[in-house]
Amino acid sequence: MGKELWIKNGYLVNPGAGQEGLSDIFIRDGKIAAVRFLSGAEDNVNRDSSFDTTEDAEVIDAKGCYVFPGLVDAHSHFRDPGFTYKEDIFSGAEAAAAGGYTDVVLMCNTNPTVDNIETLRYVLEKGKKTKIHVHSCGTVTLGLKGETITDMEALKEAGAVGFTDDGIPLMNPEILREAMKKSTALNMTVSLHEEDKTLISENGINRGKASDHFGIKGSPKEAEISLIRRDLEIAISENALVDIQHVSAKESVELIRQAVKSQGENRTIHAEATPQHFVLTEDALITIGANAKLNPPLRTEEDRLGIIEGLKDNTIDLIATDHAPHSEEEKNREITKAPSGMLGLETALSLAYEELVLNHGIPLKDVIAKLTCNPASVYGLDAGVIKEGGKADLCIFNPHTEYTVEGFHSKSSNSPFLGRKMQGRVLYTICEGEVVYQV
Ligand SMILES: [Zn+2]
Repeated sequence: MGKELWIKNGYLVNPGAGQEGLSDIFIRDGKIAAVRFLSGAEDNVNRDSSFDTTEDAEVIDAKGCYVFPGLVDAHSHFRDPGFTYKEDIFSGAEAAAAGGYTDVVLMCNTNPTVDNIETLRYVLEKGKKTKIHVHSCGTVTLGLKGETITDMEALKEAGAVGFTDDGIPLMNPEILREAMKKSTALNMTVSLHEEDKTLISENGINRGKASDHFGIKGSPKEAEISLIRRDLEIAISENALVDIQHVSAKESVELIRQAVKSQGENRTIHAEATPQHFVLTEDALITIGANAKLNPPLRTEEDRLGIIEGLKDNTIDLIATDHAPHSEEEKNREITKAPSGMLGLETALSLAYEELVLNHGIPLKDVIAKLTCNPASVYGLDAGVIKEGGKADLCIFNPHTEYTVEGFHSKSSNSPFLGRKMQGRVLYTICEGEVVYQV
């Protein structure tokens, strides 16, 4: 008999399988052996005979908690190779596990970039030594230069799960069109960082209240809107698989809404929102400073509400973290010199639960879909759903726990949520039947 784990009395929310309810989950040898929904009054359930367990089955009582599939992040920066003073693949995986994530898709703006097989292999091999599942995109263009498309077929062959030049917008529309053709032919998604840099004076600071406060011109929302408009047109004409990353403006949401509507049943256009963009506004940049600086920037309350509307009607089908560690020294530079980006993995689920489920009434199963089966599907991952015979990757979340964010498992601590009171907390993360995080 192999190792056994029995998760009792949790409320399973498993949108990828269309399931929800009070359940017992039995895990053996890293796989889901059985899921049993409990009906009727709790007292009538004879739990001890629910499963044919051995005496050494470990038991976790999840009474009062939710059980979700292990979360899947479509957008993380682990800074490895090249910037491992900010994060490395091991510390990034620890941060992910602490946030309830069992699968992460890494971005490619490392040094060297993931534009070649050797670097991709390094990332994936190191990822295999962590306690979770680490995936990586390959770059769209060599060295993120926007000029020459990579050997996408070879990168796919070597294990890349998508393509992106995230961090650097693709300014040449013909290169983008070609990249979309190639990647779609490979059944792979291109994910796009949408900011027309020719319209931006200073990155990461919204043009308006925030830029006025710092006495600069900043980054206007038109930079995002115009590039999204262009790229949606190309995507529709090529029927391409695309993921519009970290949407920041309400007008962008509307453009994506119309594009997705025009596609009908066969949706190939997907979009991400980050918790920071649906929880914070440019006011955070003014009060907190560089730890609230990211690209594209936090914008206005209207934009924030527009993003939430987009999440509500599923225009935005992915919640992604854009986990982007930076050192304290870097973030302490003056606001225009500090790098853009913030941590995300360890706070995403609590923020999504509080803001989307509690404050805006989005059904929990819809929010969990955007954190699990939807990103898994866009990146072709065997993840994001609990099914008998499948990998025992899950997350146990207590919605009643209140806590204050006091620190991180990441190597960095650049988060505007440090010190914030959170509603709901990850208690356990389980990956292939092993407890990889316990609060
Ligand atoms: Zn980006």
